[in-house]
Amino acid sequence: MWDKKGEDTSYKWFDYLKKKLLCEAIEQSKEPAPAAKEFTGARESDEALAALSDEDLVKYAISRAPKCNSMNFISVGNKNAKNVKLIQQQLQAAGANIADPEGTFGQTTLIATIAAQKQSGIRADGCVGSETIAALKIPIKGMVAKQVRRGKFSSKDLSEIARTNNEKYFGNPGGNPGNGWQSSLTSVRRYNRGLNFSLGAIPYQGTTAGRRGAKLDPRWIKDNIERARTAAGSFRINKHVKSSLEAAVEESRAQFGLPMRNVGGFVVKGTEKGFSSHTWGAGIDFDHWVNPFSRGGVLSPRLTSNARKGGKGTDRYWDLKNPSGQTWKQYLDGLGPDESAMPLYVFVGGPYGDNGIGKIFNKHGWKWGGDYRGKKDGMHFEYLG
Ligand SMILES: [Zn+2]
Repeated sequence: MWDKKGEDTSYKWFDYLKKKLLCEAIEQSKEPAPAAKEFTGARESDEALAALSDEDLVKYAISRAPKCNSMNFISVGNKNAKNVKLIQQQLQAAGANIADPEGTFGQTTLIATIAAQKQSGIRADGCVGSETIAALKIPIKGMVAKQVRRGKFSSKDLSEIARTNNEKYFGNPGGNPGNGWQSSLTSVRRYNRGLNFSLGAIPYQGTTAGRRGAKLDPRWIKDNIERARTAAGSFRINKHVKSSLEAAVEESRAQFGLPMRNVGGFVVKGTEKGFSSHTWGAGIDFDHWVNPFSRGGVLSPRLTSNARKGGKGTDRYWDLKNPSGQTWKQYLDGLGPDESAMPLYVFVGGPYGDNGIGKIFNKHGWKWGGDYRGKKDGMHFEYLG
């Protein structure tokens, strides 16, 4: 952010925003939920959940169950009878009133699960994940055990994925090109900007520079790119990082209520030096018009003026509410014509920053672009492993 003399005023504006928006938003999110609430299936904060009556808790858990199941947790309606049976047997052993652990997760199992979660002092939402499995000593392995790490892959896991990918597309775990295809940056860690994700080589033809320079091997896209569906929208993303992204978006939305509209999950782009993490489907950009690039505290003039004019892509945001309860349009209009009055969330402490959703994403294995040295990329989050 800069004023007419070119002075960096970003921190002044940040202080303003912090007072006007963030504090209000954080206070609002901590209000206890009213009784007899209707539930949308969105994740309630721990505080709101603890304040619910038993009846509301069951209603909430049922509304939440589809999301819970889609994220590899287990709740009402789960189709994995074997795992459900293991849960029921363990609940029964702990004294729950389950006559026949037959493998159907219905309301009786839900109520018993919630009671057991409460008794163990963990989040009581009827959604069986790592915490519940550990607390009740349920012997579940495989798919759910993976979710124990919240979708976060270790460097070892990633190296294994990389080797497998490279072997498949190049017939060589080292990822050397062949058959007329070139290899992207290969399976080795990316040290630039301190990033270390490793999802294997991408087979491509053409040049890595720009958006339309490269044609990726469609087999690689088919095998690696999937659609993540979240409360904030659906994003094309690498399947290996999908569950961690879904969890991070979910938690960020519950805590900050930001629009989190994506402007590029999986998208082929890069420079002549190599592809961006977006090309692996391991990078994602959120709410770009309030999170432009900046270098030395100066925001990208193209993005900022575009946002003020309601330019391409920004119209999707106009009617959404920001954390203070105004629509973004009302908020921007209220700031007046001064160019320096653009909202600025990219700096340390902002809702997208290292105390905001950046922190949440970090917990799930992602790094926030606002933490880069040199050019800050406030809209950008990328998987580290
Ligand atoms: Zn990006």
